[in-house]
Amino acid sequence: MRYNSAMIVTRFAPSPTGHLHLGHAYSALLACQRARQQGGHFLLRLEDIDNTRCRPEYIDDLLEDLQWLGIDWDGPVLKQSGRMQAYQAALDALRGMGLLYPCFCTRRDILAEVGASGSAPQGIDGPVYPGICRGLSSAEAEHRISSGVPYAWRLDMTAAMEQSGTLGWTDELGGPQVCNAEQAGDVVLGRKDIGTSYHLAVTVDDTFQNVSLVIRGQDLFQATHIHRLLQALLGLPTPVYHHHHLLTDSQGRRLAKRDRSATLRNMRQSGLSASDVRRMAGLDE
Ligand code: GLU
Repeated sequence: MRYNSAMIVTRFAPSPTGHLHLGHAYSALLACQRARQQGGHFLLRLEDIDNTRCRPEYIDDLLEDLQWLGIDWDGPVLKQSGRMQAYQAALDALRGMGLLYPCFCTRRDILAEVGASGSAPQGIDGPVYPGICRGLSSAEAEHRISSGVPYAWRLDMTAAMEQSGTLGWTDELGGPQVCNAEQAGDVVLGRKDIGTSYHLAVTVDDTFQNVSLVIRGQDLFQATHIHRLLQALLGLPTPVYHHHHLLTDSQGRRLAKRDRSATLRNMRQSGLSASDVRRMAGLDE
């Protein structure tokens, strides 16, 4: 779906891995309000590529919870599970540029290597990959692939950063940022189990949906550096970002889907109204 590029387009992109909580409500309301205030569009995208964690029943509940909250989205809901070809094409393009390599490591291999080296810089998805498979000869990699060893596709971060040069992006709250994706190391872009990854899918889809302002939680701030790099490599436009604060419980802990009391479902069942929830999230009323 394409909208006029002069118009603000925001989105809410939940993963159906559990019930929505107050933190999701805040994010969705912020994105929806912003589009409505500026006469733009607000889109809904279901990030359901991880079939090990997503459950179809959560999708129905999630749509119902959003409707109950009074959130109305424009156009059809985009499901990432139906977009695998687009992610594959992006992966092929990066591979064609010589920026990906197959990685055969298991989690255990990585932890053993990281443990042996003594120091383990942390990336956004855990310890930075120590580069075990980066130097494999193509003959060895092909041999392992043809013998059926499962593999992921990793980005050769040093080569990618060299190719892209210095990049910037803007956070509405934090101001101008210099892309520091190198801190994440050689991230996985095509997972062994699902063939794609959050970073690749979100970057491809924000362009596909013509999103001009990405509103999401502060926990994804570091991920945006990777997304900015992927945009540069794939020749995609860069939206403006707005990473909002994360809501916490009374003990100051981040809300999570496992905290049943903070789910919208639970709040509704305990008699709260949609306006109560909007007020608890700190928005209007
Ligand atoms: N699907 C992600 C989540 O539920 C959000 C992704 C994004 O907003 O970019 O945490």
